Amino acid sequence: MGALEGKFEDGVIVTSVDALFNWARLSSIWPMTFGLACCAIEMMHTAACRFDLDRFGAGVFRATPRQSDLMIVAGTVTYKMAKRIKLLYDQMPEPRYVIAMGSCAIGGGPYYEHGYHVVKGVDLYIPVDVYVPGCPPHPETLMAGLIELQEKIRQDRVLRRKKTVDAA
Ligand code: SF4
Repeated sequence: MGALEGKFEDGVIVTSVDALFNWARLSSIWPMTFGLACCAIEMMHTAACRFDLDRFGAGVFRATPRQSDLMIVAGTVTYKMAKRIKLLYDQMPEPRYVIAMGSCAIGGGPYYEHGYHVVKGVDLYIPVDVYVPGCPPHPETLMAGLIELQEKIRQDRVLRRKKTVDAA
């Protein structure tokens, strides 16, 4: 706290608006109930009791985009599905975050060369905050991605945060 250090009695906590809001946000990330293909099985596994996403405050999967602040794009993104993903993303309130989970969501994965129906990266449609590699990523890898997202939120500037710029 720099200049304020030692100016108050014991038991008085001094913080900034940024630190307070960011702490609240990173401690209660609510993912959307949403999966596309095989990676989604690992995402569900991550949320279950063995790995327990609740430890990060992120175990409350919501059934509507309007109550979600995290979209985990877990699986193959086809062109047909991409428009629905964009629609879901547009319905999420700010601040909203996106994790691209797995090779398919990141860049088309095994369908990169011959999958005429597969989008070569979901970031062509919506902005992505964290990329989690793997085919599929292990639950530990997804949790590492979540911790990375929490660190990103910790650095956010609440009052000066720009609205997310949508991709295509
Ligand atoms: S990255 Fe691999 S495991 Fe994940 S959806 Fe694509 S093919 Fe399935």
